[in-house]
Amino acid sequence: MENSKLGQEMKPVDVKKIKEMLNLKKGKMKRYLSHCAHCSLCAESCFLYMAHHKDPQYMPAYKAIHSLGTLYKKKGKVDRKLLTKMKGIVWRNCVLCGRCYCPIGIHIPSMITFARSILRSQEVYPQPDEVSAESWL
Ligand code: SF4
Ligand code: SF4
Repeated sequence: MENSKLGQEMKPVDVKKIKEMLNLKKGKMKRYLSHCAHCSLCAESCFLYMAHHKDPQYMPAYKAIHSLGTLYKKKGKVDRKLLTKMKGIVWRNCVLCGRCYCPIGIHIPSMITFARSILRSQEVYPQPDEVSAESWL
């Protein structure tokens, strides 16, 4: 295993840092999360959802709720296992193409981008060997 990857997996989660970051955009992001009507109208505008035979895990709202939504719900108190799971959701399952359309103006890419920043602050992000080994598209 590469040293950088090992380091990622061993390091304790800095919950204080995650909380600070969550607080920075709390108003806007919590508004998006609470206003989502779970109508799935955004789903068919996501090519990854369509390319994966409408697998619900690729729905734009699912991806935002199970990454950023979980971080808010748990108030940043997450372990590395959960952060690693979110890594797949926000990098492998979304390419930030911005095509997902929500009729009430929820901006999924900005939620995913923010979740990525929080994960990066904990040194959780795809390693080159993962990107080449898995299908990230
Ligand atoms: S993000 Fe918008 S379109 Fe997608 S499920 Fe939520 S309310 Fe519906
Ligand atoms: S930004 Fe992400 S969720 Fe939105 S359409 Fe593109 S891949 Fe799908």
